[in-house]
Amino acid sequence: MRRYKTYINGEWFEGASGIVLRSVDPSNNKELGEIVQNSKEDVEYAIESASRSFYKTREWRDLDVQQRSDKLLKIADMIESEIDEIAKTESMDNGKPLREAQADVDDAVHCFRYYAGLIRTPSGQTYNVNSNFGNMHSYTVKEPVGVCALITPWNFPFLMSVWKIAPALAAGNSIIFKPSSETVLSALKLFEILDKCDLPKGTANLVIGSGSTVGNLLAESKKVDMITFTGSTSVGQGIMRAAAGNVKKIGLELGGKSPNIVFADTDIDKTVEWVMMGIFLNQGEVCCAGSRLIIEKSIKDKFLKKLVERTDKLTLGAPLDNPDMGPLISKKHMQDVLGYIEKGKAEGAKLLCGGYKCTDDDLVNGNFIKPAIFDDCTSDMSIVREEIFGPVLTVLTFETEEEAIELANDTDYGLAGAVFCNDTAKALRVIKEVRAGITWINCYNPAFSEAPWGGYKMSGIGRELGTSGLDEYQETKQININISGTPLGWYNH
Ligand code: NAD
Repeated sequence: MRRYKTYINGEWFEGASGIVLRSVDPSNNKELGEIVQNSKEDVEYAIESASRSFYKTREWRDLDVQQRSDKLLKIADMIESEIDEIAKTESMDNGKPLREAQADVDDAVHCFRYYAGLIRTPSGQTYNVNSNFGNMHSYTVKEPVGVCALITPWNFPFLMSVWKIAPALAAGNSIIFKPSSETVLSALKLFEILDKCDLPKGTANLVIGSGSTVGNLLAESKKVDMITFTGSTSVGQGIMRAAAGNVKKIGLELGGKSPNIVFADTDIDKTVEWVMMGIFLNQGEVCCAGSRLIIEKSIKDKFLKKLVERTDKLTLGAPLDNPDMGPLISKKHMQDVLGYIEKGKAEGAKLLCGGYKCTDDDLVNGNFIKPAIFDDCTSDMSIVREEIFGPVLTVLTFETEEEAIELANDTDYGLAGAVFCNDTAKALRVIKEVRAGITWINCYNPAFSEAPWGGYKMSGIGRELGTSGLDEYQETKQININISGTPLGWYNH
């Protein structure tokens, strides 16, 4: 079994906490590798290294934009050349089917290329200003924020890391990255590539350890200028509090409980498949999952019959064999999801299919649960209100457009949502009313490096990806130049 190291100040670094973290294959709970977690002192060293590289040696920050962009393109090329190996690692460590891991790594390649291109485009603006103080030329420039700490979850380990690392580096920042302890292996692969690309010492640092120690130190540190976090809403709230100490810049991509509204005029067969894609992709461990099906009453029975038939046929298996669904991330998470299924039954929802741990010989040692669909749900049930983060779909019904919108927005979250409808005007009218940051019409889940990603309400603050994703990692400086050539004439003596 391989023993890994973390990466600080341009060198592979043996963690000093004495606590060994074991990576586990969730399809059989066998160990894949181990790593010693970083201690408090290691994290401080990583922060010092990033800080020195940004404020003292300044090599990355001062690199001209063409050279920085070329480096990002090189990173993209190197990821692309190892796409199969990285995807295999990701699939084994996280449990997602191999084809999904391949798509994630492919997206990551494009994300690096997108930001490599974006930083070559014009930035900043000029302003027409009043002349009370003389003739002025006013313009803005973009500058890196400084030392950025990036914290990610386990559900899309490689892709979520790249959504942060690519724009943060593109903007010229120095970073300290902490992946989830559940899935560190693909992050190690990414840092092997960054190491081979010879980024200046201290530009990119990798620390590993629990959220409550390592993550919290990053959130609290007064030497960290920005923290960007993807994960649960409750941890995000804690990060906001911890970040208040030095009023560091924050970006939060948090949880969701997204509505998927289906009108009666939709094409049922096509929509059934998109609804499945919305809730069963990545085992339902997706922040934007369409976990609340909100369906027009007149087609509910016909629609659910087809949905249940197709859901029952979904294959579960070892991720590398490319089943429809793999195992959940951990035994604990599987128990949490099964707990919600029991709660749903107790609250009076009707379980139409699945919802139990698989006991087949080849699956029994893994964290496999059969995808579940609950009918007869009401908005007050915990399975409808809380993020389950697993393959569990709840069904609510409506009779009017207004009722559909009300049900869709009856949630603390506002990450995503979709409408399925053949009447374009109605679809546009309804999507306009859905209080969420990422929405779809007649499809569910596609995400693009070019378009902004983020939530309303308790689903987060800020936007990743697109031009906004670069803005997050930049400060805007206003520069005003006096071009009058005459005295100010404000004081008369
Ligand atoms: P989590 O909040 O438990 O952990 C996320 C990360 O935060 C991990 O690296 C963890 O170690 C770290 N962490 C935990 N406690 C911390 C603390 N006190 N201080 C600093 N860091 C801490 O989330 P998870 O279980 O890994 O991931 C699932 C959650 O992530 C879901 O809620 C999901 O919706 C959300 N998510 C959101 C998006 C999005 O784009 N909005 C994308 C993916 C996942």
